[in-house]
Amino acid sequence: MSNETEFARARAVIPGGVNSPVRAYRSVGGTPRFLVSARGAYVTDVEGREYIDLIGSWGPALLGHAHPDVVAAVQDAASRGLSFGATTPGEAELAELLRERTTVRGTRLFDSIRLVSTGTEATMTAVRLARGATGRDIVLKFAGHYHGHSDGLLAESGSGVATLGLPGSAGVPADVAALTIVLPYNDLAAIEAAFAAHPGRIAAIITEAAGANAGVLVPDDGFNRALSDLAHREGALLILDEVLTGFRVGPAGWWGLEAERADGEMWKPDLVTFGKIVGGGLPLAAVAGRRDVMELLAPLGPVYQAGTLSGNPLAVAAGLATLRGADADAYARIDRSAAILSAAVEEAFASAGLAVTVSRAGSLFSLAFRDRAVRTYDDAKDQDAWRYPAFFTTLLEAGVSLPPSVFEAWFLSAAHTDLELDRITAALPAAVRAAARAPRPEPAG
Ligand SMILES: *Cc1c(COP(=O)(O)O)cnc(C)c1O
Repeated sequence: MSNETEFARARAVIPGGVNSPVRAYRSVGGTPRFLVSARGAYVTDVEGREYIDLIGSWGPALLGHAHPDVVAAVQDAASRGLSFGATTPGEAELAELLRERTTVRGTRLFDSIRLVSTGTEATMTAVRLARGATGRDIVLKFAGHYHGHSDGLLAESGSGVATLGLPGSAGVPADVAALTIVLPYNDLAAIEAAFAAHPGRIAAIITEAAGANAGVLVPDDGFNRALSDLAHREGALLILDEVLTGFRVGPAGWWGLEAERADGEMWKPDLVTFGKIVGGGLPLAAVAGRRDVMELLAPLGPVYQAGTLSGNPLAVAAGLATLRGADADAYARIDRSAAILSAAVEEAFASAGLAVTVSRAGSLFSLAFRDRAVRTYDDAKDQDAWRYPAFFTTLLEAGVSLPPSVFEAWFLSAAHTDLELDRITAALPAAVRAAARAPRPEPAG
């Protein structure tokens, strides 16, 4: 078996050979690695080659792959049945744990929470709830923020859409797209203007707690609080999307980091979404929020939402085990690794004289081939992204698996130790040289 033959086989029967677009390596070239196993900081492909993994399943592998406690919890749950389509005690246990963990300095991030299977479902339900609660239609989102692949939220959404250089998606009805207004990130005046232009029509602002799908886009100091104030002044809701940042950048997500530092009363979103880590590698996500808004959900209220596999017992077991393992020590290790590795990346480029910017939001960071800070999606797109394939491929051949797109953050885990950081650091100079030598593409036309 080789990656080549597996890719040929997959392409014959799966569009592009992949079940999620970025996996196809379209923006970096070469053959995607077909993985057969993963443990700790490493993944292994069909050819038996091992790579230090900096994708971490796009977040869930916070403790490292196949953590023994998580695997044991899933095996134990599996031995009792895979899915019941009925209520299980684990669901309330996970809900309580999530609520406790996101209570910071006495402020609760949310009152009640519903479990779903994907982040896409979570944000889709949050938007429906916001519309149900306000009786309004329009949603404001930020360019470069990704909230899953539902019709209304795909416009200028970073992630795979940015990787493939697409403006949005075909198949989204114009009438649906017209209900989403896309604004530049970190620009409060643009939000004020949108509210002024559509008085009484805006149901919600949806924002990533910190942008991490167009590379890392750090919110300006006070930006999230200002969003909350503005939304509430205008009778709209704030939806905070922590699908990626939640339980990754700290025990209570990005909101928790802001809450730790807040003086005075903490701002709160009306709705918040989680995903990725909460399922510990199995399909689980959640939408949570203020009690009065959440109780608009069926069966209590008129906003419908359901799921055959919602609250799946294996996913709940994996989520519980992952969150229990994600203690202060795990976060301290991930933070330290992120500081060391991001500094090593900066250092490697600086010694080669190639200008890059490393953006960091807690332990998440990303690289941009430009010399100025990245605050918006336009900034992220305004870089020499064509240098990334050479950088990526050189590292991959050296046994380091980075996200196959410059528009994605790098994911560390508690299983990455100094040994892995040293090996990555040792592989960097050759990758930097390859990036420096990469030929600038001819302008089209
Ligand atoms: C990954 C992601 C989603 C979508 O989650 P899926 O489980 O892939 O549907 C939504 N919002 C953010 C911020 C994400 O990073």
